[in-house]
Amino acid sequence: MLSQDDVFTELGIGPVWRLREAAPAAPLSIPRSPLPAHASPLTTWDALAEAVAHCTACKLHQTRTQGVLGVGDRNADWLIIGEAPGADEDAQGEPFVGQAGKLLDAMLAAIGLQRGNNVYITNVLKSRPPGNRDPAPDEIAACRPYLLAQIELIQPKLILVLGRIAAQSLLDTQETVGRLRGRVHAFQNVPLVVTYHPAYLLRSLPDKARAWEDLCLARRTYASLTPES
Ligand code: URA
Repeated sequence: MLSQDDVFTELGIGPVWRLREAAPAAPLSIPRSPLPAHASPLTTWDALAEAVAHCTACKLHQTRTQGVLGVGDRNADWLIIGEAPGADEDAQGEPFVGQAGKLLDAMLAAIGLQRGNNVYITNVLKSRPPGNRDPAPDEIAACRPYLLAQIELIQPKLILVLGRIAAQSLLDTQETVGRLRGRVHAFQNVPLVVTYHPAYLLRSLPDKARAWEDLCLARRTYASLTPES
């Protein structure tokens, strides 16, 4: 188990950074209403897992080892959404198990969260794009029903989005992460916070401090929704 100082060191922001006692968060006016039912029959986890395992809706099924549905607590309040499985995830069938995954685990630990414990992790794409190229728009569209079904089944209280591809596809925008981060958006009435992708943060030290601010925003937002947390 990493100590808090280890976590901060891993994040590259030094032990001086501490999560302050939550300043009373400004009340959020984002309503939490039930997600609209969608038309697909993906209404159970079994149906969803089966559909992803055998999906041929886009060309990625020709090159992937396996579909990667997601991992964690299926009743989680926190839903973390990345881009697509990489080589490690494609081999192991679990999202974020490579270097970026280690950093993601450290980021979660920094705000008191742990993979699998009130946290569910998935990607916009369930199949690996060859060579880790960016997902194509038609691939994102083909996979969208799976993500929508996951959101409907999980009913998360907060969505944390990692990186440009996931942010742009969920928010239907061309804005950069730099412009989307720092405020609370909503996806189907669920509060949504954008931050940098951990794989990018591994290469960009300065943005780790900004990612830390985003994590604090996400945590404050969550606390304002669940006063007992
Ligand atoms: N990057 C992602 O976006 N998702 C993963 O699962 C792994 C790396």
